[in-house]
Amino acid sequence: MGTAAGGLSYEVLVVDGQPIPGRPAPDGSPAMWSPTSATLICGEKSAVLVDGLTTKEHASALVEWIDGRGLELQAIYVTHGHGDHFFGLGPLVARHPDVAVVALPEVVEHMREQASPEIYDKLWGPLFGDQIPEEIVSAAPLTGDRIDLEGHSLIVHRGGHSDRSDTTFLHVPELDLVVAGDIVYNGVFPFTLDTDRASRDEWREALDRIAACRPTHVVAGHKAPGADDDHRHVAETRKFLDDFDAALDSGASAEEIFDSLVTTHDGRLNRTALWAGVFVHTRSRDEAAAAI
Ligand SMILES: [Zn+2]
Repeated sequence: MGTAAGGLSYEVLVVDGQPIPGRPAPDGSPAMWSPTSATLICGEKSAVLVDGLTTKEHASALVEWIDGRGLELQAIYVTHGHGDHFFGLGPLVARHPDVAVVALPEVVEHMREQASPEIYDKLWGPLFGDQIPEEIVSAAPLTGDRIDLEGHSLIVHRGGHSDRSDTTFLHVPELDLVVAGDIVYNGVFPFTLDTDRASRDEWREALDRIAACRPTHVVAGHKAPGADDDHRHVAETRKFLDDFDAALDSGASAEEIFDSLVTTHDGRLNRTALWAGVFVHTRSRDEAAAAI
């Protein structure tokens, strides 16, 4: 997988979604965590990894995948502060002790929060139990907006709020590639639980910023195994957000909205991620209406 240009290439590792504790969606779909990706930008001798998966099993897959490339792991860039994109890095960093783990300063702060007892014990522990590696890595704040890989620039862009605050993406101009983190969802229902109207507009602006880079290839942080990395997934993520807002505006019940979005976006994985967003946002809508 991936393309090569001027000595650079990229490859993507995707791990399957997995069951998590939680209530099923209205159609009986069991609670799941979405399939998740990690991207390796490869030079001739060195490589930069973007994001690092979640569990011990993922961590082993990541170590084996990178070992198989025979490249020196120079840096790991974390696109945003959601634990599922960096909790799996511990064993990889132990194997490559000189690797620089970097993120923008605001993301470093979010990573710290995710690993704190307040958030880890309330959210991640109950979801994944002892599946998460014991050693949780932290990142150093990236100075500037570039990572150099053998003279090639990998450019960091701020995307603002997408499925959480302070998300970013990495543009590799020589590969016509954007590694999008959670700004783009590919074949997976976008996670809207932590959004509101204003932040979903910010999310659309982030999609515009990715489109402005005119990438051919866009790797989504959550992508269906086997899915391509075509840039159309940027527009398809926007279409989902538009349909989601229109459905909320329709005044339909949570179950009706869920059914309509499952039909319109047939084929996206993880219906419980869809249901969580629909449930929370219809409840807040109904509460707001009742308060008038
Ligand atoms: Zn994520």
